[in-house]
Amino acid sequence: MKSAPCLLYRNFPGGGLQRIRDTLSTVLDLSTYPRPIPVLFRADDIGVLSASFLRMLDLFHTHQFPLCLALVPTWLSQARWKAIQSHVDTGSSLWCWHQHGWNHTNHQPLGKKCEFGSARSRSAISGDLSRGKDRLLTVIGSEFSPFFTPPWNRCSEETLEILAELGFSGVSRSQGEQGKNNPLEDFYINVDLHTRKETCGRSALENLCDELRLAVEQHYVSVMIHHQLMNDSAFELLDLLLTLVAGNSKFRACTFHHLREPKKPERPATGA
Ligand SMILES: [Zn+2]
Repeated sequence: MKSAPCLLYRNFPGGGLQRIRDTLSTVLDLSTYPRPIPVLFRADDIGVLSASFLRMLDLFHTHQFPLCLALVPTWLSQARWKAIQSHVDTGSSLWCWHQHGWNHTNHQPLGKKCEFGSARSRSAISGDLSRGKDRLLTVIGSEFSPFFTPPWNRCSEETLEILAELGFSGVSRSQGEQGKNNPLEDFYINVDLHTRKETCGRSALENLCDELRLAVEQHYVSVMIHHQLMNDSAFELLDLLLTLVAGNSKFRACTFHHLREPKKPERPATGA
């Protein structure tokens, strides 16, 4: 797994934080949306403790802003969960602990990386998904939330069917990975903070600002975090984003739970 921060943070452009601030304030000034815009943060590749992981938890705790955490089942042990519990109240409504694959292995021989893609049989997919869920239920019990983030933000439609059979409620992938058939609710990501591919810091910043602006215009801001790739500049930017959204009544802090569609009321029985 990569650990070097992307170029944006290795060579953070001067005035970059102000650029982020201005982008959000300009798009919010133009917005006439009548309700607070939902904002969601999702952190991937969770299970191993590190200084960056604890710093990320502390940051969200300080801002009292919720975070969806995608746990890799094979990375999480009882001892590691106890260590996380000694640092934060894992049962707090701030945290939405959910499943991130089984062991974060790529199974696609060609093309984009994917743990649950077309190269695998239904039984192999089903086996890994259910033992992943079982393992998380054993380790974290009722603090498990039935949502799924596939590694590399994509999975096959067959995987979605199996997830629904296993009792999952929602899936979170990149925007653009949505196919035709999805029996689950979809909580896509539209802002990528740490796995950016640009080879120039300034263009990375501009593209990130575009993602933020478009997300606000979509009235849905959903931000992906990779704490292993964060340095001090990345923490500064995340701190700024949390400051801007947490203190603003035009935004509404969400986890997957808050974004679930309300169930339609049952139609009352008719007839005598
Ligand atoms: Zn991942």
